[in-house]
Amino acid sequence: MRAVSTFDTIVIGAGMSGLTSARMLADAGHRVVVLEARDRIGGRMHTDRTAGFPVDLGASWIHGIEGSPLWDLVQALGIPTIEYTVGSFQAGGRPMEHFDGDGRRMDAAAVARWIGDVELADRLLTAEIAASADGDSYLDVTERALDRSGLDPERIDDVREFFRHRVEEQCGAWIGDLDAHGLDEDAIDGAEVIFPRGYDEIPKRLAAGLDVRLDHMAGLVRRTDGGVAVSTDHGELTAAHVILTVPLGVLKSGSIAFEPPLPDSFSGTVERLGMGVFNKVFLQFPERFWSEGDYVLRALGEAGEHWHSWYDVSAISGRPTLLTFAAGPFGSRVQELSDDAVVADAVKALRALYGDRVGDPAAHWITRWGLDPYSLGSYSHLPIGASHHDHDALAGPVDGVLHFAGEATWGDEPATVGAAFGSGHRAAERILDRPVDLTAFAAAILAREADAQGS
Ligand SMILES: Cc1cc2nc3c(=O)[nH]c(=O)nc-3n(C[C@H](O)[C@H](O)[C@H](O)COP(=O)(O)OP(=O)(O)OC[C@H]3O[C@@H](n4cnc5c(N)ncnc54)[C@H](O)[C@@H]3O)c2cc1C
Repeated sequence: MRAVSTFDTIVIGAGMSGLTSARMLADAGHRVVVLEARDRIGGRMHTDRTAGFPVDLGASWIHGIEGSPLWDLVQALGIPTIEYTVGSFQAGGRPMEHFDGDGRRMDAAAVARWIGDVELADRLLTAEIAASADGDSYLDVTERALDRSGLDPERIDDVREFFRHRVEEQCGAWIGDLDAHGLDEDAIDGAEVIFPRGYDEIPKRLAAGLDVRLDHMAGLVRRTDGGVAVSTDHGELTAAHVILTVPLGVLKSGSIAFEPPLPDSFSGTVERLGMGVFNKVFLQFPERFWSEGDYVLRALGEAGEHWHSWYDVSAISGRPTLLTFAAGPFGSRVQELSDDAVVADAVKALRALYGDRVGDPAAHWITRWGLDPYSLGSYSHLPIGASHHDHDALAGPVDGVLHFAGEATWGDEPATVGAAFGSGHRAAERILDRPVDLTAFAAAILAREADAQGS
């Protein structure tokens, strides 16, 4: 016997965007249900605590706290953070240990020269992007900027490698596939921070008290005369509105059917945008072998062709731990390998820099977001020919009842938790047809938590 229920809004997906919308609508007195395919909430904010300390396997950073509504929420909720302003790809960010293409440690003068080279090339690149034509890739504009730099070929190679890695990490894509404007929205304003208690504290606090149904996979979304019906593996639910927040990779896969089919203009947008692969590898060592005070170890040129940047995240666990990334085509290859093979390859790259001082890791964590059926990638980007307007066009609504939210629907700063938050806020406001004040939103969460503690 199939159950039929009626709600004001069905939210599909219990990640940051879905839980933001659901919380705002529930606070406004709407009957809301959240359907989540996995057996946990948080989506791409996923903190593993099995080792006794938090390991963020999805998002870790707020990339720039200045003017960030997400940062305002974090502060209002009293969530502790640690400043870590090297999450982005900044050549001259915090203190870093640099190694040249042969794996030799670079002295201060060589590092200063390298940073100067990147800054020069970046200035030229900005001009080339502004002058680019439709159909130009990020590789095209990079090569033009490097041609104009006047640097010698070896230094050009190092900067080229850096730009390739930057695109891989920010977008999860190969530089030749990204549109020349693919990093336009990537500005970092202010410090960056990470979360010593785990980033998933935010979605968990948003979800408290909501009707969230885990292990409920949505398979069909039907627009009906009266609203929308959603079929899951546990039956069908109906509502006046649906907010669909599944990742772009899931939308692209076609695993959710729509009746009637989505308009061609909408499906075209889904096809045009790209879903990149960005995976994390955490290695915990018996002893620290890198210098105190260095936040990042970075290998240039050949030494850093694959494993190139290592972030010291020991402050979270209190144990010597490095985090490195495998993104773009390299990330897609790495996620097919066994854990043992990944660890052995990454440790080999570190031993090429530090020799025998690198002990065998005591523990490791490896993600495979591109293979996860409820993500099918890590975050969205702009392949050649796509534009930031495509992100916002993806929000809908379709026929006034089918809304979309999630990082891929937010053109301002896609691929981030801030984008997920902003898009969830926008979807709730569209359904309520009025603004939702974020200060009052945070205050309501605190008041509910205080009530729950008192009762
Ligand atoms: C490795 C990694 C590192 C990252 N690092 C950062 C960072 O440092 N800073 C930053 O700002 N951002 C980072 N991001 C991006 C950030 O995590 C995401 O942009 C954000 O969490 C997305 O939230 P969302 O609500 O859009 O989607 P999600 O969190 O993916 O939520 C969507 C939900 O839909 C569910 N779902 C899927 N299919 C179905 C279905 N058929 N039925 C029901 N439910 C379904 C999923 O299980 C999921 O819970 C990172 C992402 C990854 C993968």
